[in-house]
Amino acid sequence: MAVKAQNISDIHEDVYFIQGKNRARYPYSNSLLLDNYIIDTGISGKYLRKLTRTYKIEHVILSHWHEDHISGNHYLPDAKFHCHILDKPIIENIDKMIPYYDIEHEGVGQELEKMFTMLGMKDTPIDITFDDNEIIDIGDRIQLKVLHTPGHTAGHCSFIELSSKIGFLGDIDLTNHPYYGNIDANLIDFEKSIQRLLNIDFDIVVTGHRDPILGKSLIKEKLKNYHNIILEREEGILAEFSEQDQPINPSDLKNKNLIYKEYSLFEDFEIIAEELMIEKHFNKLESMNKIISQGIGYILK
Ligand SMILES: [Zn+2]
Repeated sequence: MAVKAQNISDIHEDVYFIQGKNRARYPYSNSLLLDNYIIDTGISGKYLRKLTRTYKIEHVILSHWHEDHISGNHYLPDAKFHCHILDKPIIENIDKMIPYYDIEHEGVGQELEKMFTMLGMKDTPIDITFDDNEIIDIGDRIQLKVLHTPGHTAGHCSFIELSSKIGFLGDIDLTNHPYYGNIDANLIDFEKSIQRLLNIDFDIVVTGHRDPILGKSLIKEKLKNYHNIILEREEGILAEFSEQDQPINPSDLKNKNLIYKEYSLFEDFEIIAEELMIEKHFNKLESMNKIISQGIGYILK
């Protein structure tokens, strides 16, 4: 099957949306190709190999450390790799991923390691780190601005190409499944990042796991809907507090589908991630003074 490289800019003939395998469902993701730069390498190894037959890729920008965005790095051994400094240690040492997902003691870690082997993942030395608001010049005409949008991971970044106003939002992915289930995720930061993106006038956005979205108003609507999913989860969690007489902990809210309405093929992983995401809500609610710790757990304030 041919790799779908779709020119999505009226201004730049060398900016392409590259759809990931299986329509970019996990463990694959979408990429944006800008001249000799590509953002993320999770489209699938086979797709990447095919892409490199037509396009010369000399630089790889990584939106964040998750395996489904970096798995193809080793197919580009001569490229220079760029990422935010906070995600660099994990990309350079993928053994860190298992403790970052907090699945070391759960047996699920081995499952994820099997997935890494299937994807052929390797450690990637990072050549260049970038900072918030830095502008990466690509050729004479393409200017890619870095937007540090933490929350999903600590070093997660989004990007905007300044003349075409095309955005790449990584895993602020505008699906129905906002994700903050690793130890370096932070829900308050995640919501601030969504808010920041709402204030930018994108004309087109590409995200890790869905088809491109065209048009300023539709993009803003999708960002608001995405944020609302998080707020609905929070309401569900707060409702649990009202129903309990005892102080509660995130582990008491396990298997209640408070985050995942239904579990997928990766159910064992999702149940652990769900508890971690509930913990992120507890952290946020505590810092907002909506809940307080009492004895062995938390109660409504
Ligand atoms: Zn991710």
